[in-house]
Amino acid sequence: MPSALASQGYTNQYGVTMGPCTFCGFCTNYGCANYSKASAIVNVLPALVRMPNFTANTHCEVLEVTKDSTGKRATGIVYVDANGDKWEQPADIVVVAAFTFENVRLMLLSGIGEPYNPISNTGTTGRNYAYQTANNVQLFFDDKNFNPFIGGGAIGMGIDEFNNDNFDHSGLGFVGGGSTRVTPIGAAPINARPVPPGTPKWGKEWKKTTAQYYAASMSIGCEASNYSARSNYLSLDPTYKDPHGRPLLRITFDFTENDLRMAQYVTDKTAEIAKALNPKMLFASPRKGPWSNTSYQSSHVVGGFVMGADPATSSVNKHLQVWGVPNLFVVGASAFPQNPGYNPTGTVGALAFKAAHAIRTQYLKRPGEMISV
Ligand SMILES: Cc1cc2nc3c(=O)[nH]c(=O)nc-3n(C[C@H](O)[C@H](O)[C@H](O)COP(=O)(O)OP(=O)(O)OC[C@H]3O[C@@H](n4cnc5c(N)ncnc54)[C@H](O)[C@@H]3O)c2cc1C
Repeated sequence: MPSALASQGYTNQYGVTMGPCTFCGFCTNYGCANYSKASAIVNVLPALVRMPNFTANTHCEVLEVTKDSTGKRATGIVYVDANGDKWEQPADIVVVAAFTFENVRLMLLSGIGEPYNPISNTGTTGRNYAYQTANNVQLFFDDKNFNPFIGGGAIGMGIDEFNNDNFDHSGLGFVGGGSTRVTPIGAAPINARPVPPGTPKWGKEWKKTTAQYYAASMSIGCEASNYSARSNYLSLDPTYKDPHGRPLLRITFDFTENDLRMAQYVTDKTAEIAKALNPKMLFASPRKGPWSNTSYQSSHVVGGFVMGADPATSSVNKHLQVWGVPNLFVVGASAFPQNPGYNPTGTVGALAFKAAHAIRTQYLKRPGEMISV
C-alpha cells in the first residue's frame, strides 16, 4: 500500500529531516514522535517558518473569505485569534485548505458559489458529497501470533482486483468496488480488543477471551467506493450554530442501493480470500444501511466543492480555481466528484501540487481565469 513513511533517515530538499520508522504501533490516529510520517506540518512548515517573508498564525480560526463589491474577487479573510480578537487579513490570492467539510462550510458562509438545491438540481456548493463504504472480515485463530503491538501504515498489503471497473460487473447489479487490504497499523492496547461476537462485554469471560485473541486475530478490510447521488449533499444547518453564532454544516446522506449491493459483493470476495487462511472463526461485516454515526467507520469524506469542466455542475476548475472568483483556490478532497474505492490523501496531495504549480507557472504571470468557459 502507498504510504508516506520513511524507512530510513531522510533529509528533504528543504533541509528538513525525517527519522526512520520504528514500527512502534501508534501510527494511524497519532502524531509521529520519530518524525517518520510525512505531512506538510513535518516536511514543509519547518522550512517555511525560517523564511523572513512567511508568517504562521496558529490557534486562529478563519470565519469568512471576503469579496469586493463585484463578488468576482476575493479581498482576503476574516479570522479570530486565540484571544478572541477578530482580524481582517487582506490578500491578493486566497487558498482555502481547511478539509472537506470546512472548505464547503466556509464557501457557504462566505456566499461563494450558489448553494446546491437537490430538488431543482441547481447550484454547486454542497453538491456531490460522497463518503466510503468500509467493509471488514475479522479472523480468529488458535495457533497464530500476529504481534499486533508492532505496526505501521507502510507494511500494509492490498489488492485491487475487486476495485472499481477492474472486474466484470455483468449481471451484478451495481457499479464500483473496493480495495481489499490488510493494514497492520498496530493494535493500540486500549482501542483494539478483538473478541468474537457473542463474547460478554465485561467481566471474567471477556478478560479471558481478550487475552486469548489479542495476538491471534487479524482483519481484512475492503474500503470501497461511494458514488455521489442527487440526494446526498452538504448545506448550512438551520438549527445548530458554532460559538460564533454561525450555522454548523449539515450532512444529508445515506448509502444508495448500488453501494449496499457492492459492499455485500466485495465483502463476500474478501471472506473467500480469508477462508483460505483456515481461521478458527470468521466474521464478515459488509457495510449495511441505513447510515448511522454510532461507530468510527471512515473519515474519507469528499465532495461538496467539486472540480469539473462546467461551472453549472462544478465549483472549481481543474486547477482548483473557483469559477468566477479567479484569485480564490479551494484545495482538498472537497474537489472529488465521487469517492472511488481508495483513501483520498494521495490524490489530495497531488491536486495540491497541481494547483500550486498552476498558480506559480500560469496565474502569477497573468492573474485571472486560467480556463475560460
Ligand atoms: C483517523 C483518521 C485516519 C485517516 N487515515 C487515512 C489514511 O489511512 N489514508 C488516507 O489517505 N487518508 C486518511 N485520513 C484522511 C486524511 O486525514 C485527509 O484526507 C487529509 O488530512 C486531508 O488533508 P487536508 O490538508 O485537505 O485537510 P487537513 O489535514 O484536515 O488540514 C486542514 C487544516 O485546516 C485547519 N482548519 C480547518 N478549518 C479551519 C478554519 N476555519 N480556520 C483555520 N484553520 C482551519 C485544520 O485545523 C487543519 O490543520 C484519515 C483521517 C482520519 C481523521
